[in-house]
Amino acid sequence: MTQLAAARHGTVTEAMERVAERENCAAEFVRQQVADGQAVIPANVGHDALDPMIIGREFGTKVNANIGNSEETSDIEGELEKLHTAVHYGADTVMDLSTGANLDAIREANVEHSPVPIGTVPIYEAVKRVDDVTDITHELLLDVIEKQAEQGVDYMTIHAGVLMEHLPLTDGRKTGIVSRGGSILAQWMEESGMQNPLYATFEEICEIFAEYDVTFSLGDGLRPGCLADAGDEAQFAELDTLGELTRTAWDHDVQVMVEGPGHVPMDQIAEQVERQQEVCDGAPFYVLGPLVTDIAPGYDHITSAIGATEAARAGAAMLCYVTPKEHLGLPDREDVRDGLAAYRIAAHAGDVANGRDGARDWDDALSEARYAFDWSEQFELALDPERARSYHDQTLPGDNYKEARFCSMCGVEFCSMRIDQDARDAGEMESIEAEDGERTDVAGSAAAEVNRPPVGTHDSTPVDEATPADDD
Ligand code: SF4
Repeated sequence: MTQLAAARHGTVTEAMERVAERENCAAEFVRQQVADGQAVIPANVGHDALDPMIIGREFGTKVNANIGNSEETSDIEGELEKLHTAVHYGADTVMDLSTGANLDAIREANVEHSPVPIGTVPIYEAVKRVDDVTDITHELLLDVIEKQAEQGVDYMTIHAGVLMEHLPLTDGRKTGIVSRGGSILAQWMEESGMQNPLYATFEEICEIFAEYDVTFSLGDGLRPGCLADAGDEAQFAELDTLGELTRTAWDHDVQVMVEGPGHVPMDQIAEQVERQQEVCDGAPFYVLGPLVTDIAPGYDHITSAIGATEAARAGAAMLCYVTPKEHLGLPDREDVRDGLAAYRIAAHAGDVANGRDGARDWDDALSEARYAFDWSEQFELALDPERARSYHDQTLPGDNYKEARFCSMCGVEFCSMRIDQDARDAGEMESIEAEDGERTDVAGSAAAEVNRPPVGTHDSTPVDEATPADDD
């Protein structure tokens, strides 16, 4: 029985209990959200190492990291190191986008070792199995999907919404079809003259997913690849099909989330999130960025994190990270770290803006440590403690500076917080420090599992030196 089927029957599963504990809410609320299709718990029945989590707009905003090999980088140890790096820096889910060798062994190793849900894009493996894209058959696709379900994959991107009749709508675009899955399926449809095979076999895919409790991540194969293409007819025609497919999957008791753009001007993001929620009856929205400008290759973790923050504020449930290498090359370990930091910030900023219960406790605790010149506590509470400590220690490395009432930014004479504290001590202004020195307890806050520095969340082992990670 899938999580959705159980929820509809009124059963609170172990996974729902665990999710409720992590989100600090009632298990019955989790069950209701899942039963209504408003949240998903991606949890393949064969993924033994999983620590269940939930994706839905009523819960903490989640972050996904993409990893995977390519033709050039292929060993299992390297892939497991990428998985460790992603989880270490705070990924809530990880997508294995491998397109090189050893696909099965790498996927199985990832599932075996991952405490977070693993997602895949099965069309990639189907392409690897044939000489020409048009050699992909319905049977091959179903075979690949069933095998990956058996291997324990928790959710799969299925680009079933790109239809033949949508393709002409992309003709006037500046950047055409930029989704890898979307472009592969468009080529298949153009050359075969047949309808999207993932659409044609969707009911059969639902039956496989129901057997293993795989969650759909309905791919946005026609997402805009630049601001000029955002919100065009092609994008919204596909979205309407994704709404239809969402309801079909629900009819099979299969959980669904829906993927979204892409590149979108800031002023259009909220209305795009609202449109997806309406068209797809509230199924969780899983967005890539979106990038709010096209002008900053090398900084697209920033251009996209701005859009991701706005998307989270408007109701997106999960944010797929973008690294600084987007559009440029294969991300390495530092890119993964920078991408995850940017997206953890976006997710948290969205949670704070939405008034998520307890979300701001983390900000308050860090601010109190900062004002108290408790440098060690400030590092511990930082989103990336390793980076905060190393930046501080670049100029003031000694232990004696860990209680100093200044840092090298303003220097001892101009440290405004020291000046403020001295003024309060000397005059009539009330002291800021509470009488008993009590500070916000992040660990005991209402969002304790969300309010934590991501580094070392699941594993305190330091991450080794650079290992490459793949891009979507
Ligand atoms: S020196 Fe400036 S930046 Fe550093 S602690 Fe003081 S006020 Fe903050």
